[in-house]
Amino acid sequence: MTQQFRADLHTHTSFSDGTLSPEELIDKAIEVGLSGLAITDHDTIDAYTRALAYAKSRNFPLLGGVEFSTHHYGESFHLLAYCFRLNDPLLQALCTKHKTRRKERNRLMLERLNQMGIEIEESELLPFLEGSVGRPHIAKLLVEKGVVRSISDAFSKYIGDGKAAFVPGERMELSDTIDVVHKAGGIAILAHPHLMKRQRMLRRALELPLDGLECYYARLDPSRERPFVEIAEGRNWWMTGGSDFHGENRPHTFLGSSWVGYDTFDPLYERFLKQNAL
Ligand code: AMP
Ligand code: ZN
Ligand code: FE
Ligand code: FE
Repeated sequence: MTQQFRADLHTHTSFSDGTLSPEELIDKAIEVGLSGLAITDHDTIDAYTRALAYAKSRNFPLLGGVEFSTHHYGESFHLLAYCFRLNDPLLQALCTKHKTRRKERNRLMLERLNQMGIEIEESELLPFLEGSVGRPHIAKLLVEKGVVRSISDAFSKYIGDGKAAFVPGERMELSDTIDVVHKAGGIAILAHPHLMKRQRMLRRALELPLDGLECYYARLDPSRERPFVEIAEGRNWWMTGGSDFHGENRPHTFLGSSWVGYDTFDPLYERFLKQNAL
């Protein structure tokens, strides 16, 4: 009997706030029986330089992806993008802009923590610098220093949205990000819409020229997926899915806990190969 085709389209590596290297993630994907994968690090595609060559050596289909941090009417949204040209100058410039934004924002958050008597030097973030550095890394340092007991404590006490050491940083507009993704030949998918608390804000995002919704996410109850499947079906949009795997940084989220089948993965993968002349 052939194994069921499952492809996880939402995962993070050590190039953002996941704990596995791109190679380790691909090994794990094969180990858990996945037939395809997309790496969607926050605001960077740097993992692909290594991951594509490694995936090829293991004969494993790896789809290009990224998860952009954006804002729309003051609300924060994550935008997943797939199938874009990896060497597109506009898309690469956006990633570079995010790197600068993050550096400045991290500096300001550390400054706030220092004012509260918690000393973390900017240089302590250096070990993470191969990729996108952000709040999860600061949270890790707060745990290591014994300031808080867990990553989630770090968010709820200090760096979660609106908390004392939280700094929003420069805002990247959702519609501009969608535009960059389109110009790079990619498709723009609104990530985990189920997590949006303010429905009015979600409706505003849904007015934008998106190409799909992340209908299947982590281990969601199907009843929570249904409304988004209906919206996507009604608009003839892509319906994607993935686990949002972060390795040990989110130990209860398993690789492959959400996925798409061959009918979704194959056209995406074909388009990605064509766009990148692979
Ligand atoms: P940043 O991109 O630097 O703003 O960090 C946001 C990331 O932090 C999210 O994508 C999550 O991976 C993680 N995160 C956000 N809130 C929490 C939380 N309460 N506990 C643990 N991780 C969180
Ligand atoms: Zn993350
Ligand atoms: Fe996200
Ligand atoms: Fe994510």
